[in-house]
Amino acid sequence: MMGEVDVAIVGAGAAGIGAARRARDYGLSFVLLEAKDRIGGRCHTDTTSLGATWDRGAHWLHSAAVNPLTRVAEALGHPYLKRESFTDRYLHLGTRLATDEEKRDYEKSIDAAFDAVDALGEAGRDVAVVEALDREGRWYRLIEHVHEAISGFPPERISAVDLHRYYDSGENWPLFRGYGALVEAMGAHLPVSLETPVTAIDWSGQGVAVETPKGTLKAKTVIVTTSTNVLARGLIRFAPVLPARLQAALEGVPTGAANKVAIKFSRDVFGLPDTSYGSLMDERDPARHAVSFQIRPFGSELAIAYLGGRFADEMEREGEAAMIDMAKSAIADMFGSSILGSVEKAVATAWGGDPHTLGAYASALPGHAEARPVLWEPIGERIFLAGEAVHASWFSTVQGAFLSGRDAVERAALAIGHRS
Ligand SMILES: Cc1cc2nc3c(=O)[nH]c(=O)nc-3n(C[C@H](O)[C@H](O)[C@H](O)COP(=O)(O)OP(=O)(O)OC[C@H]3O[C@@H](n4cnc5c(N)ncnc54)[C@H](O)[C@@H]3O)c2cc1C
Repeated sequence: MMGEVDVAIVGAGAAGIGAARRARDYGLSFVLLEAKDRIGGRCHTDTTSLGATWDRGAHWLHSAAVNPLTRVAEALGHPYLKRESFTDRYLHLGTRLATDEEKRDYEKSIDAAFDAVDALGEAGRDVAVVEALDREGRWYRLIEHVHEAISGFPPERISAVDLHRYYDSGENWPLFRGYGALVEAMGAHLPVSLETPVTAIDWSGQGVAVETPKGTLKAKTVIVTTSTNVLARGLIRFAPVLPARLQAALEGVPTGAANKVAIKFSRDVFGLPDTSYGSLMDERDPARHAVSFQIRPFGSELAIAYLGGRFADEMEREGEAAMIDMAKSAIADMFGSSILGSVEKAVATAWGGDPHTLGAYASALPGHAEARPVLWEPIGERIFLAGEAVHASWFSTVQGAFLSGRDAVERAALAIGHRS
């Protein structure tokens, strides 16, 4: 790798692809360096493991009506399903369905829980979300599960101020061909160097020297899109080291956990409308964690369990077989154990063990809400962080990552005095 480019972009997930597309539009010279043998990062549509299409990572266009990627999906011919929300769900209490009254009571409780968390955040109280929740309440396990799914951490480890800053229009529209497939299409015509992990970034002189096993590249600026956990754990060596203020901020906004277990059936065992959502909370066993499922997304014979936060982390540590057992026993309780006779195959994700992400999405710890804006600050006017964790109000989402990458290019262009 010879010569000096305007921008080196580290990582070809949504942020890196957003950055590269904008750099190309601006006429900046750039390279896009990706450690994996594929682009997309935490957006990864799997068509091989089960012989059916499912997203191992991101799946829903969040805040879909105002999400810029909804328009991109339309332009690239990736259809989506307009849904109001996830709440049109089947709520199972152990082996029975909740009554309408129970469902209404749960919905009232979760709305009240979100209002209470919002009030804490609005008041600027940078404390744990759990302080606003009634742990003894009947629906706490479901409310905990929803928080873990949203933030990747249990309510004890989520900052109320940070969560309050998240913008959610309430529309979550799944993509028929997968979110991973959309992000892949967005990056299809970009020059990208795959299997090129950046090992070090030297910014001691002018510009930066970006080291990879394939050689060292000189650039005027660098945009780093890797997760906060990858950076905090020093998997890319910076010389000089990152400022202490930034290192502390990375540790204050760690990448949390989320995983899925996808179960493929040989036929329709549910008899529900396509793309249904169901949750299980077992009132017979208070120690059992709540879990939710997508059922037959777009008519496929799949049930996909969603695990977030501590539960996702603990289950991942127990291994794929334990995750599959957990998901099978949950879906059997919900729909009857006879459905297990039609299971063809099941697979589970392990985002925490993925060496290039080390987690799912980032959330500020209690007391660390002000760490997130620090991630946005340029280092030495030539190192810019991007990625989901950096976006002020759309963190933990694909569109937030994408926009942060575009924004980083604008700041890099300004820093080098580039005019498009
Ligand atoms: C299970 C799960 C479900 C989710 N569901 C949704 C959802 O429904 N909707 C939604 O909007 N979001 C969802 N998300 C979050 C969303 O996937 C992420 O916010 C987004 O994809 C992050 O994009 P990014 O570009 O910031 O990071 P990444 O996608 O992680 O991209 C960073 C890239 O950098 C690469 N890399 C790492 N280290 C190096 C290195 N040293 N050198 C070069 N390259 C390197 C990585 O391989 C990766 O490709 C979900 C995530 C998970 C895990």
